[in-house]
Amino acid sequence: MTTAGRPRPAVDALPAYRPGKDAAQAEEEHGISDAIKLASNENPWPPVPTVATAIAEAAAGVNRYADHRASVLRAELARSLSVDAEQVTVGCGSVGLLQQLCLTYVDPGDEVVYPWRSFEVYPVFTQLVGGRAVTVPLREHAFDLDAVADAVTDRTKLVFLATPNNPTGTSVSSDDLNRFADRVGPGTVIVIDEAYREFNDAALGDPVTDVLPNHPHTVVLRTFSKAHGLAGLRVGYMVGSPPVVEAVDKTLFPFAVNAIAQAAAIAAIAADAEVAERVDVLRAERDRVASALGSDGNTFVASEGNFVWMPLGDRTDDVYIALEKLGVVTRPFSGEGIRVTIGTADQNDRFLAALSNVDAR
Ligand SMILES: *Cc1c(COP(=O)(O)O)cnc(C)c1O
Repeated sequence: MTTAGRPRPAVDALPAYRPGKDAAQAEEEHGISDAIKLASNENPWPPVPTVATAIAEAAAGVNRYADHRASVLRAELARSLSVDAEQVTVGCGSVGLLQQLCLTYVDPGDEVVYPWRSFEVYPVFTQLVGGRAVTVPLREHAFDLDAVADAVTDRTKLVFLATPNNPTGTSVSSDDLNRFADRVGPGTVIVIDEAYREFNDAALGDPVTDVLPNHPHTVVLRTFSKAHGLAGLRVGYMVGSPPVVEAVDKTLFPFAVNAIAQAAAIAAIAADAEVAERVDVLRAERDRVASALGSDGNTFVASEGNFVWMPLGDRTDDVYIALEKLGVVTRPFSGEGIRVTIGTADQNDRFLAALSNVDAR
């Protein structure tokens, strides 16, 4: 092969991003029809009608650049969260904000600490900026926050804590987050990644009201991708103290949150009651799937997200391929387990029926 360009070593060493396989790809690969995708923790339903209308209206104006500051959306978020507008910013998905956090805080050689297994983009963005990833093993599929705090040093710029965790589905309470934040000095920004907040057990608390006010070095990331069903539009947000928000804002790619995404997010906030009803349905489905898995003697972890984790170890590849041949696309983590997104009741029945034809126990 001829060479062209000289990528930075940090980029050369990166694996290519592998998104969850879609249904059409699985159909082609296995020569089947009617496949369903339960691989990317998406919402199974299209946006609610008022959001769909807002999207169509905003689409008519895309000859103009969006409002880079997303002023209206930020004001609406601040109002709905009862914080000041200076405490909120938006990004191109919360993944965009994770990348911005790395660009903002991590120089080559700086440390980024996170429990592992967790969200796949943490190692990628850490590596991209030349940071040193320091990972802390899970205990019983959940975070060992004492061990995470022990791993933090003077060189630690960021800590990533996904709660509920992707892919294991375990959550951390506000009390535990407060104890953790007390132990970590102000020179380290603690990122509480709540992409699945809406599916979480409310009794665990709300870090925006319980943790942020007393810990200005903590931020909360949330997104419109999962509960609100806007994954394809790319809009997430961060809540934190003004100095952190201001620094992270400097790294926002111009107009990264496009006008359609801003309009959809504003309409989605206004439709929160409808969104909450759908979340209730998905939570009930999640619990139904979990009890079916349990009564069939399957190995799985109780989840607070819109997915379940089956730690299948060495049997992972066999099980996910067998499920795919039966038309159910899940997300495999080779040698570790499969993550199965909760879909509609029909889709979940498809998954359970397929699983009963596969030896996964
Ligand atoms: C899905 C997910 C996100 C975010 O996604 P965006 O679509 O970029 O907002 C962030 N963190 C975790 C842990 C996720 O699983």
